Amino acid sequence: MSENPLQVPFECTCCGVCCTLHQALVELHEVGKISEFLGITQDHFIEIYADKRWKVSEKILLKHNAPGGCVFLSKKDDLSLCSIHKVKPSVCRSWESSLARKECRQGLSNKLGVSVGQLGHLSGATKGTQPLNSPMNNH
Ligand code: SF4
Ligand code: SF4
Repeated sequence: MSENPLQVPFECTCCGVCCTLHQALVELHEVGKISEFLGITQDHFIEIYADKRWKVSEKILLKHNAPGGCVFLSKKDDLSLCSIHKVKPSVCRSWESSLARKECRQGLSNKLGVSVGQLGHLSGATKGTQPLNSPMNNH
């Protein structure tokens, strides 16, 4: 059986679309590690970074900054990076870049002006920032 071209490995372009469209849920047991990394107490972490609209005892929802984007999303040149990458929540660790994801396709369009066809064909002019197959930092 032939491989779905949209499922082949695709290096993250650090476009930040996923961290802008989605709010990450943090397991309570992960709060300690992130708080320690930030040098603050767990209570302080929840006070500052938890979106209080979410009322589930086992998890907290990370706030977004207006006009959008995770509170830990930072920009360096044209890359969107996670400022807590070393200790980011498991939900973020398990998120893999893929041409099958609309978020990654949106990022390709935003950053390089490239669109992805149903069969995985790339079209459109790149803006010359990065070759598509170059190794990128994980955001
Ligand atoms: S914690 Fe980091 S990886 Fe997760 S949504 Fe926020 S910026 Fe993105
Ligand atoms: S390429 Fe995909 S995984 Fe990487 S930042 Fe963009 S949307 Fe997220």
